[in-house]
Amino acid sequence: MKKLLLLFSIIFALGSCGAQNTKTIIVTTSNPVFAIIKEIAGPRVDVRYIIPPGASPHTYQPKPSDVYKSQAANVLVYVADNNDGWAAKLPGSRNLLQLVELLPREFWIDYRGEKVSPDDTTITTKNIDTHFWMDPLAVKALLPALADTLSKLDPQNAATYRTNAELFSNRLDLLHRQVDNILHNVKGRTVFLHHPSIMYLLNRYGLIYGGSIEEAPGKEPSPKYIATLIQKIRESGAKAIFNEPQLSDKAVRSIADEANVSVYLLDPVGGTSGRESYQELILYNARTLAKALAGD
Ligand SMILES: [Zn+2]
Repeated sequence: MKKLLLLFSIIFALGSCGAQNTKTIIVTTSNPVFAIIKEIAGPRVDVRYIIPPGASPHTYQPKPSDVYKSQAANVLVYVADNNDGWAAKLPGSRNLLQLVELLPREFWIDYRGEKVSPDDTTITTKNIDTHFWMDPLAVKALLPALADTLSKLDPQNAATYRTNAELFSNRLDLLHRQVDNILHNVKGRTVFLHHPSIMYLLNRYGLIYGGSIEEAPGKEPSPKYIATLIQKIRESGAKAIFNEPQLSDKAVRSIADEANVSVYLLDPVGGTSGRESYQELILYNARTLAKALAGD
């Protein structure tokens, strides 16, 4: 009997030790990806991120410690080749998951903030606006494919991914109704951004995209482009323009002075206090827009 008990405790010890060693590690690039994956991974999966809060995913230069981090990954998740594509070149890239590939085509919008026609075969995920996570319904639409893909890459947690994706989907419906309510009184207002980061949000909730300082992410504006933008802001009657914590506020401040408008802070990335979870991130942006645009 004693021998049997000893055998059981050895098996149990080996089992729990093995379970610890085989805990799935999902490495994500930036906070929005981290926040979404966290919702469907649950506590049994170790979800990590590479980019510290405050850095821009578009221009981020991976460090040696990021290479080390990516090597531990069972799955490495990023947004898109034309968003945070440096992730695909990290050594941990054997199980790569590019989220934008899972987004149904009817949700795609281009860099002018307009819906991509389903018949336009010249448009691929390489030339759409990649900030889809700013629309809770776009995130909801990719969840079934996301749960399926993660389940194939990590079969031991398949049931968890599928159940959590369904629960998150229900929370996103609720979030959508909240945001719709918050932005109800500012529908139809024009929004000027630092870079085209929240156009999925504007498109979903009936706001108009006026333009950005960066026409595309990371694109340096010419003096002529800035002069035209200032003119557009004046003509639109907007009372505010928007900066982001991941970008310098120098250009925004001087444009705001010229156009005589206030500056508010939108945050498409989050990861800081009050903007950590996916819901907090979206609600922060909705409330900021509502506040800034209410006075127009
Ligand atoms: Zn961006």
